[in-house]
Amino acid sequence: MKTACAGADLMELRLDGVASPDLRRLLEHRPCPVIVTVRHGSQGGRYSGSEANRLAVLQNAIDLGAEYVDVELFAAGELEPRGNTKLIVSHHDFEKTPADLRVLHQELRKTGAHIVKLVTMARDICDNLRMFELLRSTDVPTIGFCMGEEGQISRVLTKKFGGYLTYAAPERGREAAPGQLTVSELRELYHYESIGTDTEIYGVIGNPVAHSLSPAIHNAAFQEAGIDAVYLPFKVADVGAFVRGFRALDVRGYSVTIPHKSRIVQELDEIGPLSRRIGAVNTVINRDGKLLGRNTDYMGALRPLERLLGGNGAHSLEGKRVVLCGAGGAARAVAFGLAERNAKVVIVNRTHEKGVKLAEEVGCGAQPRESLCDLAYDVLINTTSVGMHPNVDETPVPKEALRRGAVVMDAVYNPPETRLLREAREAGCRTISGVEWFIDQAAAQFELWTGMKAPHELMTDVLLMRLGAGN
Ligand code: NAP
Repeated sequence: MKTACAGADLMELRLDGVASPDLRRLLEHRPCPVIVTVRHGSQGGRYSGSEANRLAVLQNAIDLGAEYVDVELFAAGELEPRGNTKLIVSHHDFEKTPADLRVLHQELRKTGAHIVKLVTMARDICDNLRMFELLRSTDVPTIGFCMGEEGQISRVLTKKFGGYLTYAAPERGREAAPGQLTVSELRELYHYESIGTDTEIYGVIGNPVAHSLSPAIHNAAFQEAGIDAVYLPFKVADVGAFVRGFRALDVRGYSVTIPHKSRIVQELDEIGPLSRRIGAVNTVINRDGKLLGRNTDYMGALRPLERLLGGNGAHSLEGKRVVLCGAGGAARAVAFGLAERNAKVVIVNRTHEKGVKLAEEVGCGAQPRESLCDLAYDVLINTTSVGMHPNVDETPVPKEALRRGAVVMDAVYNPPETRLLREAREAGCRTISGVEWFIDQAAAQFELWTGMKAPHELMTDVLLMRLGAGN
């Protein structure tokens, strides 16, 4: 109990997981306030004894003065509240989030519960909206959130909307319900203790999104800048329904990642001219209720290049010969950005026809992959995923194509130094890691959202720490 309650304000004793609990002894030694629960099988518990015995344990917990006792809706009338023990009357739906949560909530509150607990399964990210609406509108202390990966945001945001408490696992692998975060994720990643009614919401829209590094980077940046905001991963299947539904929450800004960067364009109120030409948005800014779309992917690549080339700032790329390896989404954003800076771009792609097609749209050149060793350039940028963890021994560019004194940049940020960058460094090139690109696109988002300078160094440290931990 001592280990489990580290970092928690109170602890749930799930006695359905204990063969013959010595309740008196457990309560005597509790290191923090407790909720005593003997969860019934029909509500996701493991209790296998008689119902009479189950209720006797719960009544005993009340008589021994446990701070909270949790009982299922169907058994609420069987217990006799007394002393200072608060009765939590709960209902869990492991299948869905019902259309009208208020009906269930009404039933729960009719039992005379001190605290009502309503937990449902989110099948879609928009299911959370009904839970938030319920929390906002009730005057009864309510524990309310959604389960599952799509419901994870509600385990954090429940506090903003007035939820009584949230549950967290002591460590990964010991979750009591689907989608449960750990105590350290809640505290260290989402800064749960500082979330309040006024906390602003940001997040990344993607699918999948669970492994996105953006929440770690942006939450650390908000914390450092003293901004009352939380940044969450939104696992979104239907981006149209999501953007329309979540307007009700006044989300202040989104990052957008695969596969929604192009489709989201039609859901927004205004798109920047270059983002429109690129045809993709990775950043959404909420300005007085209007959703503005921008693309910082290309800024992420151009900013570190312009820093390294120095000289005349935004004009440092003008006239530079740039070889762009790849013709996917990242290449597209960078190619339009480079063209705007009047760089001389040549696209080299595995599927040559795709390279030619992008070059026609941008108004630049395209060459087949075989000609890479014959091309003269000042800057070479890899925008393919070649060399990315775990295929760290691969490189998209043969050594013979590396030119002393040129700048070589990689979109791949895991590992921070790819084989391409190592060989380029050894060949006397100046190199820029995908880490810089990633941080600069995130920093540009932060600046568009807040109008403040991003804590660049801290964001880099957080990213490198996460990458180090992941491999
Ligand atoms: P994408 O749209 O799927 O494009 C992938 C590109 O890589 C295509 O041009 C593809 O060529 C090429 N490619 C894939 N496998 C290849 C191989 N084995 N050999 C040669 N070419 C290959 O992906 P994307 O969104 O552009 O992203 C590409 C990479 O950039 C990813 O690793 C992504 O994580 C990274 N990225 C990093 C940042 C950052 O902030 N550092 C930002 C954006 C993207 P074909 O046309 O022949 O299929």
